[in-house]
Amino acid sequence: MDYQQILNEIYAKVQPCLTRGKVADYIPELSHVPQSKFGMALVTHGGEVFEVGDAAEPFSIQSISKLFTLTLAMRLEGNGIWDRIGREPSGTAFNSLVQLEYENGIPRNPFINAGAIVVTDLILSHLDNAHETVLDFIRELSGNKTIQFNRDIVRSEKATGYRNVALANFIKSFGNLRNAPEAVLDAYFHHCSIAMTCTDVARAGLFLANAGRSPSTGSEIVRPNQAKHIKSLMLTCGTYDAVGDFAYRVGLPGKSGVGGGILAVMPGQFSVCVWSPGLNQSGNSLAGTMALEWLTTQTEVSIF
Ligand code: GLN
Repeated sequence: MDYQQILNEIYAKVQPCLTRGKVADYIPELSHVPQSKFGMALVTHGGEVFEVGDAAEPFSIQSISKLFTLTLAMRLEGNGIWDRIGREPSGTAFNSLVQLEYENGIPRNPFINAGAIVVTDLILSHLDNAHETVLDFIRELSGNKTIQFNRDIVRSEKATGYRNVALANFIKSFGNLRNAPEAVLDAYFHHCSIAMTCTDVARAGLFLANAGRSPSTGSEIVRPNQAKHIKSLMLTCGTYDAVGDFAYRVGLPGKSGVGGGILAVMPGQFSVCVWSPGLNQSGNSLAGTMALEWLTTQTEVSIF
């Protein structure tokens, strides 16, 4: 498979679509990212890396961090996390409050904000410094020790994250947070603000294409069964209220973020990350989703 040629073709084809999405501005700092950015990196199971466009430029991973925090929480807590978080698609926006009241403060899944806030609370109960531990875990997974928080984004999220503050307090009122909402949110905002390149993200996701084991170091990140669980959740909940459309068009488990990044994995073959900051109505990268759709169409490789 000539992945480089396929990425080059996607890069050319995607150009007219870059202006069609809308860059997130509810976190003011994110709105400064130029809409013309587009990067894509594919890392094969064997460690080969293919890149195009702005694949080497760090961007704010935002909700892609929810994948790494869930992985860490599964390592720390095992199946205990499912007493406090569901495993069903929400059918609502990523930052929605509505279901929480009907469902007694149990978030629908770990990939919406409410769920990731509970995941962060679980991590905090095990570790004093949740945000540094998550950063170290991501550095280990991607093999890049220089990955950092973007402090401007942390400040911007803290200053304007009213909905997340509401979610954390609401969940606390149902008794589903053990730690203080302020401490949980501080860690949560740090996780969302981590800056990584497409290549970093693709490398960090590669353990999911290899049954939970890092192909480069051979170390077990999670058990094979847990890797299956994580990928199932990506497929059913990883792209918010557009999971059906994403699965239909792309046919891979994926996790998106409002920074415009999407990580997708093809078990046994590759991990791929695309970044394009213009979002569609559901908060997923518009051109990024198209690029992944073209990738699986062109290669005729998908999980289905
Ligand atoms: N930091 C963002 C928020 O909490 C993450 C949301 C996302 O990427 N979908 O609103």
